[in-house]
Amino acid sequence: MRPGRQFPRPHKTMKKILDYINSRRSEIVKLTKTLIEIPTQNPPGEHYEEMVRVIEKKCRAMGLSTKRFITPRAYLRKKGITTGSERINLIADWDLGHKETIHITCHYDVVPATKNWDTHPFKAHINKDKITGRGAEDMKGTLCAAIFAVEAIKALNRKPGANIQLSFCPDEETGGETGFGWLVKNGLVKATAGISEGYSNNFISIGNKGVYWFEVEVIGKSAHGSMPYKGINAFEHAADLAQEFKNLKAKIEKKKSRFMTKDSRDRFPTLMMGGEVLGGCKVNVVPEEVVFSVDRRLIPEETRETARRQVREVIKKFCAKNPRVRIRINEKICNSPCVSESRAPVCRAMASAVKTVTGKDPKFAIMAGATDLRFLMQHGIPCVGYSARGGSRWHSDNEYISIKSIQNTAKIYCLTILSPLL
Ligand SMILES: [Zn+2]
Repeated sequence: MRPGRQFPRPHKTMKKILDYINSRRSEIVKLTKTLIEIPTQNPPGEHYEEMVRVIEKKCRAMGLSTKRFITPRAYLRKKGITTGSERINLIADWDLGHKETIHITCHYDVVPATKNWDTHPFKAHINKDKITGRGAEDMKGTLCAAIFAVEAIKALNRKPGANIQLSFCPDEETGGETGFGWLVKNGLVKATAGISEGYSNNFISIGNKGVYWFEVEVIGKSAHGSMPYKGINAFEHAADLAQEFKNLKAKIEKKKSRFMTKDSRDRFPTLMMGGEVLGGCKVNVVPEEVVFSVDRRLIPEETRETARRQVREVIKKFCAKNPRVRIRINEKICNSPCVSESRAPVCRAMASAVKTVTGKDPKFAIMAGATDLRFLMQHGIPCVGYSARGGSRWHSDNEYISIKSIQNTAKIYCLTILSPLL
């Protein structure tokens, strides 16, 4: 962001940062443990106040100014949230008077835990380099890394070339609209560039696929099960329609994105049916209505308009063949794919930081799933995603994080923020 600005005595500063973060191992473990042990399960979204209090205290101790923004109840209701904690978004600022601001966003909610864990999901279990607990990898370990990255810069008395703003938000696990999405929508976020969770190791995420979720409602006519000819069987028609969607799926899944993904299978568009299925009421009643969901993911080369048109064409053809059946499409989400330009300063800065810390050549890739960064990328703000890693057990049982990886991520965030490229 300030081309030509020199990194002050690079090797010495860099070494000091790496040493500082190495020296903070026990504090990093302690904070990660505290974060895991506040069970911010979502849904329904609980213990948010307790969580914000901990983060707020830590940010203030580092000399950042903090402010809480509560997502209004009416907005929550509109998005279908009627239970759980107050939705608190915390913003922590380090205003250095620059024109540009690097924004790091973290979500503090976690998905619920099953009963199948070997350890208590909300009691951090520490064994050598591993901390096990719900949210360790998604994303409390990375949240901790972000905090310690800023702490290192403060402690070593360095001045970044841009203002630093951190946000800690709820509800990423339920789509983010009522957390970071709401903050961005209301102009409460300052960002020339954004950083958040994403890939790990030597992979940096610079975007995500588009998400198109809809429900297909198939409406027939009920009748007694012994005289099915008097009704219109919504289930049988839904099965035929599902076959048409399978044909569409075979067609769209042939298209390969030019963007790299960590898993090469993610380079294609996808269509997944039946995540939710509803219908029928009794064994001897012809089902009047069947509803099934469709989860369609778009590669950056596709547009929402194309995806919607493909669906409309399938329905139109089906209805022409089956005039007695009614079909309704209820759209739930339709987000465009987002990709940041890999030449953007923040992308180059992080690539150089990853190389320094891991010693490996960094690779830019897009993710199959979306993160909160999409709310910034939708406005054309360049963003990078990078996470501390464990066993890639995001949302699964026995989720854990490597302490070494939290430290490396803190180093990478720190070097990125201080990069002369910014
Ligand atoms: Zn996450």
